[in-house]
Amino acid sequence: MSSLSRAEILARLAPIIAKSLHIDAARVTEDAYLSDLGAESLDLIEITMGIEEAFDIWVPEKSILQTAREVYGEGVLEKEGVLTQEGKDLLRARMPELSAESLSGEVTMSAVNREFMRVSGWVRMIESFVDATPQVCAACGGPLGRALAYKRKCVACGTENALKPGEEVNKRWVLDYQAATARSAAQ
Ligand SMILES: [Zn+2]
Repeated sequence: MSSLSRAEILARLAPIIAKSLHIDAARVTEDAYLSDLGAESLDLIEITMGIEEAFDIWVPEKSILQTAREVYGEGVLEKEGVLTQEGKDLLRARMPELSAESLSGEVTMSAVNREFMRVSGWVRMIESFVDATPQVCAACGGPLGRALAYKRKCVACGTENALKPGEEVNKRWVLDYQAATARSAAQ
């Protein structure tokens, strides 16, 4: 299992973002926001595709909050466009890179969506999907070729190894978080 460091991820991510936005890669720091760098929704799609290709991972279309809302149901994590305490706790657990200020007081969904544009969050997201995706062949343990249509062919035996859908990784995280917080509340 070869894991990438955050610095390695950023070094590979910065040129992808820079190319899409036609900016200098040096501007892509962990503290930068993609929205401030000029990213619009089409750029985000292009950047996401570039990330999937560069890291051999499957990035979900939904944000972690959208997936969490499906698990928790409406009105639990967010009410009338504002995060509830439960919503804040979940995001704090999921996004340790968030500053304390960004989750204090009334936190609107547009403020949350802005935080989702922070480069450090994208680095952490890539890290979690790389870690959740098998890096060797499930059949023989051999090395895998580059991903094509969300599959990686084993160089040794030819078995097609499917990438782990990011959506599944996120949902697993939400369910584990929910179980852990329910346990600690019961104690
Ligand atoms: Zn194999």
